[in-house]
Amino acid sequence: MSTKELKEYSFNDVEKHKSAGLPFKWIIIDAKVYDVSRFANLHPGGAAVLLAKSIGESRVISHYARLQIGTIAGQVELVKPLAADALSTVPYAEPTWLSAGFHSPYYSESHRRFQKALRKFVSEVIAPEMEQCEQNGKRISQGVIDKMAEMNILAMRIGPGKHLKGRTLMGGVVKPEEFDYFHELIISFEYGRLGLRGSMDGLLSGGVIGLPPVLNYGTPELQARIVPDVLSGKKLICLAVSEAFAGSDVGGLQTTATLVQDGKGGKHWVVNGTKKWITNGTFADYFTTPCRVEKEDGKDGGYVVLLIQRGDGVETRPVKTSYSATAGTAFVMFDNVEVGLENTIGEVGDGMRVILSNFNHERWMIVCVSARTQRLIVEECLKWANQRIVFGKPLLSQAVVRAKIAGMMGRVEACQGWLESVTHQMNNMSYEDQSDKLAGQIALLKQFITRCGREIAEDATQIFGGRGITVTSPKLLCGAEDVMGDLGVRQAMKKIPKDARL
Ligand SMILES: Cc1cc2nc3c(=O)[nH]c(=O)nc-3n(C[C@H](O)[C@H](O)[C@H](O)COP(=O)(O)OP(=O)(O)OC[C@H]3O[C@@H](n4cnc5c(N)ncnc54)[C@H](O)[C@@H]3O)c2cc1C
Repeated sequence: MSTKELKEYSFNDVEKHKSAGLPFKWIIIDAKVYDVSRFANLHPGGAAVLLAKSIGESRVISHYARLQIGTIAGQVELVKPLAADALSTVPYAEPTWLSAGFHSPYYSESHRRFQKALRKFVSEVIAPEMEQCEQNGKRISQGVIDKMAEMNILAMRIGPGKHLKGRTLMGGVVKPEEFDYFHELIISFEYGRLGLRGSMDGLLSGGVIGLPPVLNYGTPELQARIVPDVLSGKKLICLAVSEAFAGSDVGGLQTTATLVQDGKGGKHWVVNGTKKWITNGTFADYFTTPCRVEKEDGKDGGYVVLLIQRGDGVETRPVKTSYSATAGTAFVMFDNVEVGLENTIGEVGDGMRVILSNFNHERWMIVCVSARTQRLIVEECLKWANQRIVFGKPLLSQAVVRAKIAGMMGRVEACQGWLESVTHQMNNMSYEDQSDKLAGQIALLKQFITRCGREIAEDATQIFGGRGITVTSPKLLCGAEDVMGDLGVRQAMKKIPKDARL
C-alpha cells in the first residue's frame, strides 16, 4: 500500500467516473475504491478482465493495492487481511487440534504456543521472501537463514535430541527438554501451509536429511567441528545418496572411496563419482555422501559414509526440475576429492545402516509437509467453490463438486490421523526402535499420502477450471511410491510368526 492518503467516497462519486472510452475509470471492490483509468487498458485481457478477476480472487486484488484511492463511506470490507498468527476459520483448513471445539490427546499448551509463534514468524519473515524465490528460482537469502537460526529453527528441524540442549527455542516459547516430534511436525506443517513446493525444500531441507548422520554416527570431534556452524546457518549441508543409476536401489551406488597414503605416513580417502537430484546441492558447503569402499585387493569393502566439503574436485550443477530452482536440486561431481579420515561418519563397511536409518525421519518429514499442503488445497477449493458463480449458482451447489470436496476432506483427515499416530510412536521409541518398528509404517504412510496428494491435485484442478494448475506432490523424493508400498509389506513379512496359519 502506498503512503498516499485514502479518501471516503459515495457510490455516486464513483458513478460519475464512468467515461465513454472506458466502461469505468473507478471501480469498487469490497468497499474499496480503485482508480484503474491508466491501468485498465494495459491489462492483457483489457478492462473487463481486470474487473472480473478482481471480483473473483482476493489474491489478485492485493496486486492492485497501489491503485486504491479510497473507501466507500459507511461500507465495511468483507475480506479483511488476517493477523500474521491467525488461524483460518474455514472448515477443514486447520487440523482439528487447532479448530475451535475439537480435542486431541497429542498436543499440549506448549505445542499451541509454539504453533502461534511459528505461524507469525513464517508469515512475516519467511513467506514474503519464499514467494519471490519460488518465482525467480533464487536460493534463500543469508538474511532469512540468520533469522531462522536466531530462533533455532534449523536445530529444531532435526527433531528432539541433545543438539537442542542450552538453546533458546523460538524466543523461549518452548524449552529444549519439552521439544518433541509434534513440535517438529508443526514446523513442517507451517512450511507446508505456504503451498510453495520448491521453497519448502529451499528452506534448507537438505540439512534436515544431511545432518542427522553426523549427529547420530559422527565422532565427537567431527560433530564439534561441523554441527555448530550448520545449526547457526553459517554452513549448509545436504544428503548426497542418489545417483543417475542408483535411486530406489541405493545399494547399486557407484561412487567410490579409496584409502590412499598421504605421503606423511597417514592416509586419506579419495572419492570419485557423481550424485543426482541432490536437494540444496547447488549451494551446500557439505555433502553427506555414501560411497562404495574400494579395497586394494579388489574385494568388496561395503559402504562408507563421508562428509565431503566443497572444495577442489567438487563441482555442482543445477538439475532442471518441474518445481522451483530455489530448492537447489543438483548434479554433483566428485573428481579425485581428498577427504580426511576424520570426516568418516560411522564404521567403515557399515555405511548402508547409517543411510537407511536416516530415511525414516526424512520420509516422515516429507509426509508432514505434504499432509499440510493437501489441507491448504482443500481450503482453497472450498473458498473457491463457495465464491465462484457458474450457471447462476455457486460451484458448491453442484453435487458433483461437493462429492469431490468430500473425498478431499476424507483424505486429508485420514492422512492426519495416521500421521499423528506414527508421530506419537516416534515420541515414545528410541532411534533404534523407530528403525526397527516404524520403517514399514512410515513407508506405507508415505505411499498413501502421495497417492492422496495426486488425487487431491486432480480434483482441485477440475474445481479451479482454467485457473487450475497441477499441484504435484513429492511422490519420488526419498523413495518411489511402489517401492514404499513394497517396503511396508516386506517389513510386515519379516515379523509374521512362523506358526501363523489360517
Ligand atoms: C525433487 C527430488 C529431490 C530429491 N532429493 C534428493 C536428495 O536430497 N538426496 C538424494 O540422495 N536423493 C534425492 N532425490 C532422489 C530420490 O531419492 C530418488 O529419485 C528416488 O529414490 C527414486 O529413484 P530414481 O529416481 O532413480 O527412480 P528409480 O529407482 O529408477 O525408480 C523408477 C520407478 O521404478 C519402479 N521401481 C524401482 N524399483 C522398484 C522396486 N524395487 N519395486 C517396484 N518398483 C520399483 C518404481 O515405479 C519407481 O517409481 C530426490 C528426488 C527428487 C525427485
